[in-house]
Amino acid sequence: MSRTPFVAGNWKMHTNAEECVALCRAVRERVEGIEGVEAGVCPPFPFLQAAKAALKGSSVLLGAQNAHWEAQGAFTGEVSPSMLRGLADYAIIGHSERRQYFCETDETANKRLKAVLSHGLLPIFCLGETRDEREANRTEEILERQLRRGLDVVPWTPACVIAYEPVWAIGTGLAATSEQANEAIGFIRRLVGELVGAEIAQATRIQYGGSVKADNAAELFAQPEIDGALVGGASLDADAFAAIVRAAAG
Ligand code: PEP
Repeated sequence: MSRTPFVAGNWKMHTNAEECVALCRAVRERVEGIEGVEAGVCPPFPFLQAAKAALKGSSVLLGAQNAHWEAQGAFTGEVSPSMLRGLADYAIIGHSERRQYFCETDETANKRLKAVLSHGLLPIFCLGETRDEREANRTEEILERQLRRGLDVVPWTPACVIAYEPVWAIGTGLAATSEQANEAIGFIRRLVGELVGAEIAQATRIQYGGSVKADNAAELFAQPEIDGALVGGASLDADAFAAIVRAAAG
């Protein structure tokens, strides 16, 4: 089954309002006309509206970096999926920085997944093992736990996206080898098949994330299981990001 690769930029807590708009414009200029790939950016919450305006009429998709599971309520500092409806196409769910610094668990990621889907958004569901877990040969056990709990009774569709992001590769400059990434993503796809059906699993885009740069992207994307990337640091440079998008287009 051929899947259209998807390259999404996670801008994390970077840019101010002006920089966000300038980066959106630079990205759209550079990726417009690249065929056979989808590109998206995930700016900080306060700038989503400005980003949407800056991307209007382009094919660049817009993602939020998180979403709460309730539609509204006394949850200071959170943003609900209903607030993102009509604004963002995607929401990143379960990113390792959320798990590491903000007490995100498999269970809260599961609640957020259900909520974004019920509000018409698509998830980019992140999972991945730590260095210690990989060194202890526990990678598959960890991925299986995160997937089983994360996807529990989630109405998964082929439009939902997964990002395999080994924690040891995020922001470290030390990307997984293309073989490591392909093997882990193949494992994830088989398990998604068990959980939601083989046909849906075959259609689901599974990105690799972790120190993807312009110079290692082509090698990663040459692997059959890797359907694009979730890109952190390199997505803040429009030229580097566009080069990664181009590499995913093949
Ligand atoms: C990320 O934040 O999801 C990520 C993969 O970051 P980086 O590309 O900087 O490793």
